[in-house]
Amino acid sequence: MQSRQFDIVGDVHGCLEELLELMAALGYRVEQQSGGFWVAPPEGRTLAFLGDLVNRGPSTPGVLRLVMGMVRAGQALCVPGNQDVKLSNAFKGHTVEETVGLTRSLEQMADEPLEFQAESMEFLDSLPSHFNLDDGRLVIAHAGLPERLHGSESAKARAFATGGQTTCERDTLGLLVRSNWAANYRGKALVVYGHTPLVEPLWLNNTVNIDTGCVYGGRLTALRYPERETVSVGARRVYSASRRGFRLERFRFKY
Ligand code: MN
Repeated sequence: MQSRQFDIVGDVHGCLEELLELMAALGYRVEQQSGGFWVAPPEGRTLAFLGDLVNRGPSTPGVLRLVMGMVRAGQALCVPGNQDVKLSNAFKGHTVEETVGLTRSLEQMADEPLEFQAESMEFLDSLPSHFNLDDGRLVIAHAGLPERLHGSESAKARAFATGGQTTCERDTLGLLVRSNWAANYRGKALVVYGHTPLVEPLWLNNTVNIDTGCVYGGRLTALRYPERETVSVGARRVYSASRRGFRLERFRFKY
C-alpha cells in the first residue's frame, strides 16, 4: 500500500453508530446497502484499525462487515486486539474466559448467516500482528510494541502487540497491572496503540494511546497521520461496565 496518510481508529468494540459518525467526521462517505457498506475515502487516505473491533458493544457483526469490506477493497488496514483473538478462539471451541462482552458477541453472530460467521473468523485470523508504515516512521499495534519487536513476525511480537504485557503486581481489583512499555520507549517510529481505555488520548515519548473507551460511555477517537491531530465522537450511551474502571485509569498509571 502506497498511502502515507492514515486515519487510525482506536478500540471500536462493536460501536457501529459511533464508528460511522467518526468516519463521516473524517470525510469518509459511507452508504449502507443490503449486505454491506459502500465507502468512499477522502483522496489519498487510508483507515487503519487498532483492533478490538468486537465484544461488549451493540453491533459486533456490523463492525466486522464494514471493516472486512474496507480491508478487502484496499481502503483499510486492521490489526487484531485481544478481544478479536478471544472471539475467534471461542468460535474454534477453545476454552476462553466467558464474559458478558463475549457472550453478547456470540449471540449477535449467531443471528448472522453461517457463511458470514466463517468469513469473519477467517478475517480475524488473517490479520498481521502489527503494521510498520511510512518507511518505519509509524507503527500501529493494538497494545503497543517496544522498538526491538518492530517488524518482527515472531510469536513474541504477536503476543505483545495483541495482548500487551502484565507485571506480577495486582491492583486493588485483583487484576494484573499492565506493564507501561511506553514509559521506556525511545524509538524513532511513532507507535499508535489502544488496549487500555483512558479518558483522553495519551502522548508519551513517541507513542500515543487513542483508546478513549467508547464502549464504556467515553469517546471513539481517531488519530490523523501525519497531521498528529485527534478527532473523536462521543458514545451514544454506556454499553458496558469497565472492569478496570476506565474513569480512574489516568490516576492508576503513574506516567
Ligand atoms: Mn479494548
